[in-house]
Amino acid sequence: MSEPLLTIDNLVTRFPTKRGRLTAVDGVSLTLERRESLGLVGESGSGKSVLGLSVMRLVQPPGKIESGAIRFDGHSLLDLDEEGMRQLRGRRLAMIFQDPTATLNPVFTIGEQIAEVLRWHTPEMSPAEMRERVTEMLDRVGIPNAGRRLNDYPHEFSGGMQQRVIIAAALILNPHLVIADEPTTALDVTVQAQILDLLRRLKDGEPETAIILVSHDLGVVGEMCERIAVMYAGNLVEVAPADDILDDPKHPYTVGLIASIPRLDREVGALSPIPGRLADPVSPPPGCKFNPRCAHAFDRCRVERPVLKTIAPGRQVACHLHD
Ligand code: SF4
Repeated sequence: MSEPLLTIDNLVTRFPTKRGRLTAVDGVSLTLERRESLGLVGESGSGKSVLGLSVMRLVQPPGKIESGAIRFDGHSLLDLDEEGMRQLRGRRLAMIFQDPTATLNPVFTIGEQIAEVLRWHTPEMSPAEMRERVTEMLDRVGIPNAGRRLNDYPHEFSGGMQQRVIIAAALILNPHLVIADEPTTALDVTVQAQILDLLRRLKDGEPETAIILVSHDLGVVGEMCERIAVMYAGNLVEVAPADDILDDPKHPYTVGLIASIPRLDREVGALSPIPGRLADPVSPPPGCKFNPRCAHAFDRCRVERPVLKTIAPGRQVACHLHD
């Protein structure tokens, strides 16, 4: 069998704080196959964005990856120097961030900003070829009058159109992996649906591209992704094919996430939010980090941390109930 596109092995990423070390990613191991779509879900603060930034090697100091390994497309990412990472970012590995207004530079035109990716990675392209490629890409992501609009500045685009521009820049070199970090959270509900539909179509049209969609919304990733990884307080607690997770969740936290998805066929008032708060990442409870919120917790849960184990082909769960 060929090597997975991405292998994360026992990754730990921490940030120093006044209260002590904050463990955002706590021993995560995960693989992603070529062309696969994986949804990474969990509440805000569960560590999923930091996991994405760790793969990109974009964790801001004083935060740092303390241990573990990340293997991507034949490269050991934690052993590469910054120049080596720069060569991979954009060409092989791209990230779409939550807020397009924070990503785009207001003083450069849209065309200049997308062409920057080409200038860096394919300097042999002529300006005319770059312009043609940028226009083609803007057209693909649904920007009307792409040839004219590449001369516009970010403030002349709506939030949804700006996010389309970011997606165009991320995909222009057909990367092997795109990490989309809550790409629709900053957008209106109607625009969210358009962007998700766009990502889905682009993914289907890009046979070489795998995607990790980071979201707090299990409903969204369930529609978009083949597989789902659920993260809680820095740990992966369940990994399985999307249909299996949605139809038959095994971890009590995943059960809670699904119960809190608004659905048209559910009575008003029937939503069940998960009680309690996310575990403190500086001093989490002993044993299973979810135990103070878990209706099934028993004595062992309060002293022994469960590890992610395979319980069926393709299904992994970290919960003592499934030992
Ligand atoms: Fe609940 Fe125990 Fe499973 Fe943790 S290990 S999710 S506390 S049953």
